[in-house]
Amino acid sequence: MKFDTFSEYLSRMEGTAGRLELAAQLSELLRGLTPSETPAALYMVQGQLLPPFAGEPMGMAARLLLRAMERALGDQGEKGRSRDLDALLAEVGDPGLLAERLKMGREHGHLDLSGIYEALLEISRMSGSGSQDEKISRLAKLFQGVSPLSSRYLARFVMGRLRLGIGDSTIVDALARTLLLSPAEDEKAWKTEMKRIRQRVEGAYNLCSDLGRVGEVLRREGIEGLRSIRPSVGYPIRMALCERLGSGAEIIEKLGRAAVESKYDGFRCQIHCDGSHVRIFSRNLEETTGMFPELVSEARAILGRRTAIFEGEALGYDGENDSYHPFQVTITRKRKHNILEKSEEIPLKCLVFDLLYLDGETIMERPFSERRRLLEGVFPVHRPKFSEREVPPDHVFGASRLIETDDPHTIDLFFDEVVEEGFEGIIAKRLDGVYTAGSRNFNWIKLKRSYKGALSDTVDLVLIGYYRGKGLRTRLGIGAVLGAVFDPESGRYLSIARIGSGLTEEKWKDLREMLDDLRVPEPPPTVRSGLVPDFWVYPKIVVTVLADELTRSPVHQAGRSEGEEEGYALRFPRMVSGPRADKGPEEATTVSEIRRLFELQRQRSLRE
Ligand code: AMP
Repeated sequence: MKFDTFSEYLSRMEGTAGRLELAAQLSELLRGLTPSETPAALYMVQGQLLPPFAGEPMGMAARLLLRAMERALGDQGEKGRSRDLDALLAEVGDPGLLAERLKMGREHGHLDLSGIYEALLEISRMSGSGSQDEKISRLAKLFQGVSPLSSRYLARFVMGRLRLGIGDSTIVDALARTLLLSPAEDEKAWKTEMKRIRQRVEGAYNLCSDLGRVGEVLRREGIEGLRSIRPSVGYPIRMALCERLGSGAEIIEKLGRAAVESKYDGFRCQIHCDGSHVRIFSRNLEETTGMFPELVSEARAILGRRTAIFEGEALGYDGENDSYHPFQVTITRKRKHNILEKSEEIPLKCLVFDLLYLDGETIMERPFSERRRLLEGVFPVHRPKFSEREVPPDHVFGASRLIETDDPHTIDLFFDEVVEEGFEGIIAKRLDGVYTAGSRNFNWIKLKRSYKGALSDTVDLVLIGYYRGKGLRTRLGIGAVLGAVFDPESGRYLSIARIGSGLTEEKWKDLREMLDDLRVPEPPPTVRSGLVPDFWVYPKIVVTVLADELTRSPVHQAGRSEGEEEGYALRFPRMVSGPRADKGPEEATTVSEIRRLFELQRQRSLRE
């Protein structure tokens, strides 16, 4: 496919709000591609060169882009000079529109999608002396080879600002639709078949975290071909998530006899070992191996030549007091430089809670109790009683603390015990439950510390806008942010709270800088908000928020998607974390979780 044709699809999708409509358009685009072109198109519509775990982000500095444009449009005299381009960019605000404008009325070549994609991949991998100049000249050639409209998308893409709002689930829908065109006479049968195909596509994606690979296999070999996608060491498996309930009794009612573990608040690590090669992935599937040298070396020592994929929570460890640090301290391990120094200052322990793959075999489909037995065969267990430390003193890894019970009272005692030790709460696990990659269900149930009179759990909100500061905050340039929850059904972000407290001045400033980078002139089509902030931003940053309670609200949009007149709002919301690097916008709290929290809150207030 010519890149210009691809850009026409991007242009149509850019103006589309509804997820179904987006999926239909994307599916039309996919049908026009060969299987081998599919990965490039799928990565690029999401503004990426490769899936996130491959660590190949596209985000070139504006300066390089402007110099490439200058070179591509070199014979344009004064208008094409980079210092003027700087001024023009400041005026237009969007590198894409600037590139399009400069390109208007000029001749151009007709490069194809694959050629551009390969070139961009090479450009992003260039490093060392002289690479800047080479990058500029390669990029300039690309600009010469495409239409004005394509220049718009090319410029936005290389700066990491494509922002079409196409989430993973829209891509899964679109891929499913390539197999089943439009509703035939029998719409109900079509929907059932669509659901079945969608589940297969999503299932394959959950196992390899690579939509490009899933897309190519599907287009080449059809739905049955997806069977060949199995977990493999080195490819992150999309992580299983928890549902929530309000008490030990509710947990036992739901699960019967269950395993119950401490809920640790640190970094979730999915660790892949293949002989001596170890890679670690975060909750949002980015590679974090470099951050955790001690995990890498102990994993190597424990596993030797075995292959394994396992998960645990890494926590900062305070050796002097033999206790774990709170998350605010653990998070300071997250850094790019002086990692070794920091790892001496704040050593880690990693509490292993699941084993997904061992010795060449996928075991994530086996019952939890069997996985746990295998896990305990690999990792040291060191806690005859509740209250003893999980990890042997000279080890980094230990199995998570676990009890098995069918007695609600025992769960409540265990809960009190772990909360007293400073942990977040507990996670109960269905004994015969499989590891449900990429989904949230009652195989895992969390029960968190409850603050009297307060909402029992934090929520993760996506920021969709912000307000200028007033009074003392004027000089920070930010006074509050507008937060939204995610609705996977519609692919939309729905406003739920205006949040003006919880951060230090320094953190507010940092946040504003990040938000400035995401500013958009209009609310993006995927955003629905009852309030109008001073500045809209592209929904990307996730923050964790605590509030006193959930209330019904005539203003906010969260919860109105099912025709309800009132939405939900958070009362007295405050941020308990700055931007969460480990969560993407689609991993934010969903509308249905908010409904569930509201219901839990209602039941609690009836009890009290
Ligand atoms: P939340 O982020 O509040 O939805 O809680 C789920 C997170 O708890 C997981 O992503 C893990 O990072 C973390 N976690 C802590 N302890 C455990 C455990 N024992 N089992 C599973 N997940 C755990």
